[in-house]
Amino acid sequence: MEQNQENNIFESWFGKTVKTPFIISGPCSAESLSQLTETARLLAATNKISVFRAGIWKPRTRPGSFEGAGEKGLGWLKKAKDETGFRTIVEIAHPKHIDLCNKYDVDMFWIGARTTSNPFSIQELCEAIKGTDKPVFIKNPVNPDIELWIGAIERFKNAGISKIAAIHRGFYPFEKTIFRNMPKWEVAIELKIRLPHLPVLCDPSHIAGDRQFLAEISQKALDLNMDGLMIESHPCPEKAHSDANQQITPQNLNKLIDSLVFRKPDNAADDFHSLLNKYRDQIDSLDFQLIDLLSKRMNVVEKIGLLKKDNAITILQLRRWQDIIKSRTKYGLKLGLSEELVEKLLGFIHKESIQKQTDIMNDRKNQEK
Ligand code: PEP
Ligand code: MN
Repeated sequence: MEQNQENNIFESWFGKTVKTPFIISGPCSAESLSQLTETARLLAATNKISVFRAGIWKPRTRPGSFEGAGEKGLGWLKKAKDETGFRTIVEIAHPKHIDLCNKYDVDMFWIGARTTSNPFSIQELCEAIKGTDKPVFIKNPVNPDIELWIGAIERFKNAGISKIAAIHRGFYPFEKTIFRNMPKWEVAIELKIRLPHLPVLCDPSHIAGDRQFLAEISQKALDLNMDGLMIESHPCPEKAHSDANQQITPQNLNKLIDSLVFRKPDNAADDFHSLLNKYRDQIDSLDFQLIDLLSKRMNVVEKIGLLKKDNAITILQLRRWQDIIKSRTKYGLKLGLSEELVEKLLGFIHKESIQKQTDIMNDRKNQEK
């Protein structure tokens, strides 16, 4: 991979010892001393990792699954750190986590997506962290609410934390998608536009939910000029106690990093072009989501077509169509879209839907002949 020496914002935080690109890696969860030290050794051997991560307290969706090793995991992490010289980072979600991390010489903290979603929890952490000045990496909230994300960043700033970075880990999808979390890149780009000096990393592991997509998402993040990556690694991913599908071996991580193309930002010095490119990246992300939605809508249209056919109902339902136009144009107006745009767009989509349903009817007719 081509190295870009000029563009590592973390050099000003940690000095020349950080690698480019800036990569945080390590297991989703600390599971045992041997798992942690083996991962750290293998990662150190790649010479490509700047910070070693391990989850010590795990926020699990349902009770009863592995909830983290707790304090003894911090002891293992300290041993891994002493052996490899890695800086370490741990997720904190409760004030008592901060004290314990300090006791075991953890270098920095990350805030998980579920915690960022809750300003009460963030405020509690901020009260507890005052007086220390360890770097804090703040993941996006579970929902794509940029104000909530910025709010958490502001709270840590107000608590006197001088080294703050954000981590984009995608957003909870309401419907099943190929990724575990929707990237919605436009939100991360908006954050970069609103807080130009804030380093923003990407966490492809939690976006993907599946290791097969890690390279693609990592490349996209680099192409969007993200400031680094957080990628989960495990010596034996299939056996991991949490997030087994998305972790990769340190050896495969090494190959993944080698496969990435690191493009220099085109017009970094030119504010106009750099902003224009950011807006264009937002448009790209939104266009793909529009097409995703159109395809989902068309799948439903198809189901309706089959239902109408089986129940001998006409394709065109004029009343329903009038209701659609009325409610959608009203909604569009509220969002600043002209009636004409919404009407024309829906008219076009509707025409295509009618065609699809006609094809379904004809197809059935042919089959019945
Ligand atoms: C993690 O990094 O292991 C984690 C729990 O992440 P998130 O908060 O993004 O779900
Ligand atoms: Mn995880």
